[in-house]
Amino acid sequence: MSEAAAISRKPIPAPDDLTRPFWDAARARRLVAQRCAACGYYNHPPRNFCDACLGRELAFTPISGRGVVYTFTVMHQRDVAGFESEAPFIAMVVELVEQPMLLMVSNLPIGERDRVRIGAPAEVWFEDRGDGVIIPQFRIV
Ligand SMILES: [Zn+2]
Repeated sequence: MSEAAAISRKPIPAPDDLTRPFWDAARARRLVAQRCAACGYYNHPPRNFCDACLGRELAFTPISGRGVVYTFTVMHQRDVAGFESEAPFIAMVVELVEQPMLLMVSNLPIGERDRVRIGAPAEVWFEDRGDGVIIPQFRIV
């Protein structure tokens, strides 16, 4: 088998009843997060109960897509399925402006290595992976 044939496709979301509204919004290039009607706390990834108050009335609401880099690492391993040809790349976590510890995961090309730092401002963009799959990603701004 050639090396090219060994490269796998990037993983795609498998929405369920809990996460489907998030992925549907992403397909429309909108970023949403689950918010508690009782206390206003944002919960991400989506949950059945609010992390802050255990409330069960949770609804998806638009969020800004703006935040800062909370942490990051450089991935050198080439055994992450779908990312074999992209390593090294940067895996990062962004903290959204709406709330401390409202975190979303993203990745960056290694060319961004000189720009990424903890606290750097970041904003959402939407990666089209084909077949109707749109992934929220973040870039340094
Ligand atoms: Zn709550």
